Amino acid sequence: MDILLNEAPCGYFSITDKGLIQSVNQTLLRMLGYDREELLERHIESTMSVANKMFFHTYFYPYIQLYGQVNEMYLSFRTKDGKDLPVLLNGIRRDRDGKAVIECVALEMRKRIEHEKDIMKTKQQLEALCQETNEANHRLELLHAQYEKKQQKLLDLNEKLETLASTDPLTGLRNRRYFQEQLQKYMELFEQSGEIFSLCIIDIDRFKAINDTYGHPVGDLVLTRLAQLLQEQSYGDTVVARFGGEEFVILLPGLNQEQVLAAAERYRSATETTPLGDLRITISIGAATCSPEDTELSLLQQADQALYISKHNGRNRVTHYNAG
Ligand code: GH3
Ligand code: MG
Ligand code: MG
Repeated sequence: MDILLNEAPCGYFSITDKGLIQSVNQTLLRMLGYDREELLERHIESTMSVANKMFFHTYFYPYIQLYGQVNEMYLSFRTKDGKDLPVLLNGIRRDRDGKAVIECVALEMRKRIEHEKDIMKTKQQLEALCQETNEANHRLELLHAQYEKKQQKLLDLNEKLETLASTDPLTGLRNRRYFQEQLQKYMELFEQSGEIFSLCIIDIDRFKAINDTYGHPVGDLVLTRLAQLLQEQSYGDTVVARFGGEEFVILLPGLNQEQVLAAAERYRSATETTPLGDLRITISIGAATCSPEDTELSLLQQADQALYISKHNGRNRVTHYNAG
């Protein structure tokens, strides 16, 4: 055998159509652990396990008969000491001196299989990692959903508390605290952009007499009904609040002196003509309209002074501070 072929970096052998080994190079002998004499004229399948024999029989022979060659067939030889030797096999059938011979090369595949095993292992580890990540993500999503739900509950609760903190418990109107906040807001708006607003302080006339005559609970009912009436008579962003005791305060954004007088007159006459339960009451009103030199306090003092004038002039009337 040619020396180059004998020591080629892959196994080489030739067989007859029946599978009897005709030649074998040194490389393959080393791979299988045989001496040349042990293999020549032996059947190639004697170097294979039963499963590989079957495979060889089923695919190699029919292919080589049909197409004259076999490429990249993957199978295992069995070495002399009984170990598997995975190889990639190429074969070709030729005529040599009028006799058919099948020549084959066998490339050892152990390294590739190890690489494949490594790749498979890494793939499995990656898949496990991926699964863990997905599960962790899922748990995170659940936690996030729970958090959002709790956050929403907290927001709702805060809103309720906020409403509670700014509501008068007897009448259900906004309380003095809320009114002061709104007054501050509209004062700032006025300073920044000159948007005017007015306010009214309302005081029930001779309310003490109602308490004294009919009792405190009836007095409470009158306060609640009047609160309803004032609210019904208000529009848009008007803020109606209980200022304390039997006094109410109304903030009317965008209204000038003339307009607030008209609005106050509407509140006054509605109260005079509407029975609250079995009772009729009247109210006195003091109004004021913001001007550049005003503060929150001065504006409230002006409305209070105007209210005092309404009381002084006989009650059941409306006075604007500027016209008082
Ligand atoms: P005027 O026309 O001068 O305002 O007379 P008035 O009787 O309304 O004034 P006064 O300030 O003397 O009396 C106010 C009364 O309002 C006294 C108080 O008992 C009553 N009052 C204050 N808050 C409440 C409340 O929450 N419920 C009841 N029922 N009465 C209240
Ligand atoms: Mg009063
Ligand atoms: Mg009063």
